[in-house]
Amino acid sequence: MSTPAADKREGNLAAPTRHPVEWRDPGFYDGDAFLKEAERIFDICHGCRRCVSLCNAFPTLFDLVDGSKTMEVDGVAKADFWKVVDQCYLCDICYMTKCPYVPPHPWNVDFPHTMLRGKAIQFKRGETGFRDKLLTSTDKVGKLATIPVVVKAVNWASNNGAARALMEKTLGVAAEAALPPYAERRFRDEARPSVRWPVRDGQRTRGKVALFTTCYVNYNEPGIARDLVKVLAHNEVPYVLAEQEACCGMPKLELGDLETVEKLKDVNVPPLAALARQGFAILTPVPSCTLMFKSELPLLFPDDPDVIAVSEAMMDPFEYLVLRDRDGLLRKDFAKPLGKISYHIPCHSRVQNVGQKTREVLEWLPGTEVSTIERCAGHDGTWGVKKEYFAMSMKIGTPVFRQMAAPQPDYVASDCPIAGRRIEQGIRKIGERSGRKEHPITLVRLAYGLD
Ligand code: SF4
Ligand code: SF4
Repeated sequence: MSTPAADKREGNLAAPTRHPVEWRDPGFYDGDAFLKEAERIFDICHGCRRCVSLCNAFPTLFDLVDGSKTMEVDGVAKADFWKVVDQCYLCDICYMTKCPYVPPHPWNVDFPHTMLRGKAIQFKRGETGFRDKLLTSTDKVGKLATIPVVVKAVNWASNNGAARALMEKTLGVAAEAALPPYAERRFRDEARPSVRWPVRDGQRTRGKVALFTTCYVNYNEPGIARDLVKVLAHNEVPYVLAEQEACCGMPKLELGDLETVEKLKDVNVPPLAALARQGFAILTPVPSCTLMFKSELPLLFPDDPDVIAVSEAMMDPFEYLVLRDRDGLLRKDFAKPLGKISYHIPCHSRVQNVGQKTREVLEWLPGTEVSTIERCAGHDGTWGVKKEYFAMSMKIGTPVFRQMAAPQPDYVASDCPIAGRRIEQGIRKIGERSGRKEHPITLVRLAYGLD
């Protein structure tokens, strides 16, 4: 690769900026153009290698380079580039926390979006299998699995060795991967808006909240949303639910299925935009979904004013609580000490660039000691339950499992409930004692002493 001499300065002191994804440009799906751009980026990465420990995409690339005849990227067969694409789960950590060559640096390295382009090409070519399409259809599967007569059978099968062995053989879902149970009652079927308090806008926070529940919380862990609304109610913040809700689109984005991402955006965004314009803050209790609305959709649809309105109103619940406190509008009448908490910051919280807001809130709790672990737990959406990646995923997560177990915690917690479940499984697998797994918002509800 040749770069102009003026562009060879090391690193970048400016904050990373991100260019929109040009996915409507016909050249986006041109396989040869993709391979050319991937080669350019891979060559810069080969000369840098800072990201070697982040995930398995970089070791895969560097092993290919080191095993080639030239020991340079030009010695790697182009057909092998797809092996690197398959190892990336689009966590964005390399872009947001590590890479000195991201825009505005003229080298314009965007490793995750280059991998996204590769995934989109694979999807367009029809190379995506049934298993991956099924695992990423979280809303459709959730609706089906939580039908009253179905839910017990689904939960039984998830925990039955013979059924899981069959699932591994036929679907490619790792038999060992702990799967979340489905709830007998969906959150959106039971929840009612609560508008009985006056709206108190602060300097930094809107005084009323719209809740985007997310597929995972609606179908698998509705207790997280119940706890979030209890915390809002304790603070007299009126809340409503989004009028209609489909999957945020993150799983389909990770598959490269950008047309389905657009369809889901068209379901979710208009009602959320209406709420945003009425002055609601929008909260989602799953960091990947928050990130989807905050950052990914605006990069895919930069000219859609509804997408921008939603992005500006969207907040992580703990970002909201901290800013509410700075506005002098949060109660801190915590009644119950929680002992030791091992708290994990998931990648999709880190890349929101809002600081460690959950840690800040947990550290307010009296009689509570918080150990914070900021590292990938290896689950990464649907990647870590796939048969071919499960072992690698557990290997990536092992340092997190060890660090989380080390303080002998009373609780283990992650903002990402799926990562939390994987951490609990990983701690058991390495033979350590896990504390009780709870979502951080549940810990706040407990500390307030709310039932
Ligand atoms: S986006 Fe995440 S998974 Fe993909 S290459 Fe970067 S660090 Fe690895
Ligand atoms: S993404 Fe950036 S920091 Fe990471 S290896 Fe490539 S050039 Fe280096």
